Amino acid sequence: PYRPAPTAGLLTRRRATLGPAVLTYDEPLHLRRGRGVWLTGADGRRYLDAYNNVPVVGHSHPAVAAAVAAQLRLLDTNSRYLHEAAVELGERLLATTGGGFDRVLLVNSGSEANDVARRIASFVTGSRAAAVTAYAYHGVTQATTDLSPESWPAGTAVPDVTLVPPPGAGDPAAALPERLGAAFVDPTFTSDGILGPAPAYLLALQDATRAAGGLFVADEVQAGFGRTGAHLWSYAACGARPDLVTLGKPMGNGFPVAAVLGRSEHVDAFIDETDYFSTFGGNQAAAVAALAVLRVLEEEGLVAHAAGVGGELRRLLDELAAEHDGVAAVRSWGLLAGVELHPGGRPAAAVAEACRQRGVLIGVTGPRRDVLKLRPPLVLRSEDAELLVAVLAEAL
Ligand code: PMP
Repeated sequence: PYRPAPTAGLLTRRRATLGPAVLTYDEPLHLRRGRGVWLTGADGRRYLDAYNNVPVVGHSHPAVAAAVAAQLRLLDTNSRYLHEAAVELGERLLATTGGGFDRVLLVNSGSEANDVARRIASFVTGSRAAAVTAYAYHGVTQATTDLSPESWPAGTAVPDVTLVPPPGAGDPAAALPERLGAAFVDPTFTSDGILGPAPAYLLALQDATRAAGGLFVADEVQAGFGRTGAHLWSYAACGARPDLVTLGKPMGNGFPVAAVLGRSEHVDAFIDETDYFSTFGGNQAAAVAALAVLRVLEEEGLVAHAAGVGGELRRLLDELAAEHDGVAAVRSWGLLAGVELHPGGRPAAAVAEACRQRGVLIGVTGPRRDVLKLRPPLVLRSEDAELLVAVLAEAL
């Protein structure tokens, strides 16, 4: 088996080779194994993972690992052939939407899904103009970086991209231009500070987008696959009816696979005219990974579980807020929770570092970087939630 070098040497080699890559914590984590909500470091230490929305059904889920391993032994190549897995995946995904969609494009990352969604919207409407929330993140390609003010250097303005206020900060419709190709929105507003659910906001933005001739795109890369505990898809829990939906991160529980859900009236001409094709998108291993995730979510009842344990987590966080002056607000939806800290108190990044020292992994988000982001795999148990909040209290 592959045996990595000791941690100190590995960091030096990584910097020398991969450059100053983002490694989440001051003292980077060197991980060897994961199972459920637990990670094991190279030093043998265990960490409770409350940061990660990729392993939605839990790290190294045996059913996903077995499905992918079996497929890799049989066939794994490009996606230009007939194969059952991609078709079955498409059918299953469409069935989860209750008839709102009839086309699925399988791709490799959330960025690629949003990039393709933007191309489809431009193709259909003839307009590249787009709207996003003020501190949104939608991806890493050129076209999706243009949709990601979180990534823009200070003072940047992108032609054709309008920033709308997030929920609670103003009327999004009032900010829109007369003509629009698309509006992209993460219904949980993760980068804007974790602000969902906001159904009235979402419907107002959807209506205004359509009135401006644009397509309404729900980015479920963060929110999807049951995280909110309300539905597999957070837009559906809000009663929205987007034109396109993008899926990613948790879709393969760590295996790269992502998707765009759309309707034939928009998608088919785009595919025909552009000869649209993705080499790895939904190839055999990717498709069986995503099928296994959908199966496990259903078999283990993880959407309902996210609602139940998410409610327990919320009660514990509300108690924490009552006891700690440093907490300004608690917001949550299922197993996505934000703990906003008061300015002038301990910075959120320092609290996240202190949690990591105590073996619990959380993140930081929001335009002022003052919101603790809790986003564990959906298999979190009550006792894990208790441990998480107890450690958070110490860190605060
Ligand atoms: N959309 C949202 C809402 C995201 O959070 C992310 C990733 N953080 C992306 C898109 C891009 O996904 P990926 O990194 O897989 O390209």
